[in-house]
Formats: sequence, C-alpha cells, structure tokens
Amino acid sequence: MKGLHRLLCCLLAALLLTGCAAGTAEAEAEPDPEAETSSTQYLEAMDTFMFLTAYGSGRDDALEAAVAEIQRLEALFTVGSEDSEISQLNRSGTAVLSEDTAALLERSLEIYESTGGAFDITVYPLMELWGFTTQDYQVPTETEIQTALTLVGADRISWDSVTSTATLGEGQSVDLGGIAKGYTSQTVIDLFREMGVVSAMVSLGGNVQCLGCKPDGSPWRVGIQDPTGTEGSIVAVIEVEDQAVITSGSYERYFTDEATGKTYHHIIDPSTGYPAESGLCSVTVVTSDGTLGDALSTALFIMGLEDGTAYWQAHSDEFQAIFINTEGNLYVTQGLEDVVMADEGYTLLTQ
Ligand code: ADP
Ligand code: MG
Repeated sequence: MKGLHRLLCCLLAALLLTGCAAGTAEAEAEPDPEAETSSTQYLEAMDTFMFLTAYGSGRDDALEAAVAEIQRLEALFTVGSEDSEISQLNRSGTAVLSEDTAALLERSLEIYESTGGAFDITVYPLMELWGFTTQDYQVPTETEIQTALTLVGADRISWDSVTSTATLGEGQSVDLGGIAKGYTSQTVIDLFREMGVVSAMVSLGGNVQCLGCKPDGSPWRVGIQDPTGTEGSIVAVIEVEDQAVITSGSYERYFTDEATGKTYHHIIDPSTGYPAESGLCSVTVVTSDGTLGDALSTALFIMGLEDGTAYWQAHSDEFQAIFINTEGNLYVTQGLEDVVMADEGYTLLTQ
C-alpha cells in the first residue's frame, strides 16, 4: 500500500511539473511501460498525404483502426468517386445519408449560416468550371461564372433530420472538400481516446490534430508554413495540447494562366465565383473541434482579415486564429499570445 501511495505521489508531482491535463485520469491507473514509445502510419487518402503517430501500449491496434476508419470515411465523402454517398446525392439530387455524411452536411449548413455564406458546399459547379476537380484548369468566361453562380447557395439544400434525407436545389451539387479532412482528424482523435491512447498527433495534409500532450508532458509543437517562402519553410511555431491546428492556404492548390501569368487558387468566394482575393494567403485555425477548424479556415480565408477578425471577436470561445496577408505579415488572436513563436514578430488581435 505504501509503495502504491508513493507511486501515486510521484505521478501527481510529475503531472504538476509538466502541467499536462491529459494524463490526469490515468494517474490512478498502472503506468504504461510503453508510454513513450510511438508508432507512425503513413497513408494517402482524400487526395492528400497523411501521417498518424500514437504513443503507448495500445498504439498499434489504434493506428490500424484509424486507417480503416479514414478509408471508410473517404469512401463516403469523395466527390471524385462514383459510389460515394456524396456522388449519389449529386447524381440524384436527393439521398438518405448515413450517420457520418449526415453529421457533416448538418455542420456544413450551420457554418454556412454563421459565416454569412462564405463557407458554402454548393460551390462544386465552380470547382468544376475552374478545372479543380479534373486538374484540367481553365479561366472561365464571365458568362460561365455567372451561370455557375446561379447554382450556388446552400440555403437551397433541404435537410430532414428525422429521415436523414438531403435534397439539393435544382441543378446543385455539393463538395465536402473544405470540411471532410477536419471531420476525419476529429474522428480519428476520438477513436484514439476511446481506445485508451492518451498521446497522439495526426496530420492530414494541412490539418494537424493532437491528442493530449507529448508523453514527456510538454506540448506538441506545430509549424505554420511560410506561404510566400519555399515549400517546407516555417514562419511560426505554435504549442498546443488537445487541439486541431488547421491551415487553408492559396499556395496549396493553384494554377497559373499562361496568357496572363496570373495564379488562381482553389478557395472560391461564393459571392463572386472567383478564387477569393481577400488580401490573405493563409489562415490557421486553432480549436478543439477539428470539423469546425477545417470549415472556418476556408471561410476566414474568404472573409479576409477585417471580417475574419470580427467573426473571431464574436466566436472567440470556439477558436483562435493566425492570419497571414499577401505581404507576409502575421496577425494572431489574443488567445494564442503565449503559445505562438514567430521570428519576425506579429500583430496581436484583441477583443
Ligand atoms: P485544403 O483542402 O487544401 O486543405 P481547404 O480546407 O481550404 O483546403 O479546402 C479547400 C477545398 O474546399 C476546395 O478544394 C473545395 O473542395 C472546397 N471549397 C472551396 N471553396 C469553398 C467554399 N467557399 N466553401 C466551402 N468549400 C469550399
Ligand atoms: Mg478547410
């Protein structure tokens, strides 16, 4: 008994020293001899390169389950695959949705409302028109844009939560590409937690989500890519525990029009039909809700610094953000003041 008491005291002291809350529930359990041992899985899914790292004795089973879960979600959401639930909905105009697709559609409609239409999954006809769905890129004519725009507006989707039936407006089609990876990282983190993992980090393209802290009790360090620099260079580092760090950037997917030399990226402003020109080139959202983080990184990019800051001021209990403008200046919301390190400094956004 005395030995056990001593062990518990040591564990408690260790927790107080490191300050990580994630291990609190585990303090009374037997310590995991493999707590600091990790495994990593690499995979390609949802049109991006992913890696998943988990620590502790249950890590390999959890990683195997996570990969299966990612592949299951990919099969439901991918617009490019004919059998996906989303493709069926786009083809038929109406479909009964399974639990995950329903959850994602519901969140997409909520965020459409709260962002004043900046996040709008009905931009798909515009994605097709610009060639982002086939990589057969083209700059459309003004008439083509105006015609495609008549199909855009998520307020025309009807959603019946009792029968789980979605019905699109005439001619509409939807694309979950702006939110699906965030939902997926959130689902993987929830699965890890259920399977007893207390420390993990997943990266699905620009979407990073962490469970707990590192096994030594220190926070995870996530690099924010320099949108104007060479690939892989970093402008800031953020330290987080139990958070998603999700970036949308104009450098992630774009093409250059050879005739004019102008570049066009894949984040479409639903009010104009053109790639958003908001003066920003990257937005990172930090939040405990991966699904929200993904949709908001896209929406805030479209809103720009001024409207994005106002949106944060009204929702600062839900997320924090880092904005980078086309001149390369950083703007950081107040809640991140102590956890963002940037060599060139930044402007703090306050309430
Ligand atoms: P990435 O997929 O590169 O991480 P984002 O999360 O910003 O980047 O999502 C961009 C994707 O979201 C586009 O490829 C497209 O599928 C979709 N999308 C583009 N514009 C919008 C928009 N205004 N609202 C919702 N989804 C959008
Ligand atoms: Mg997004």
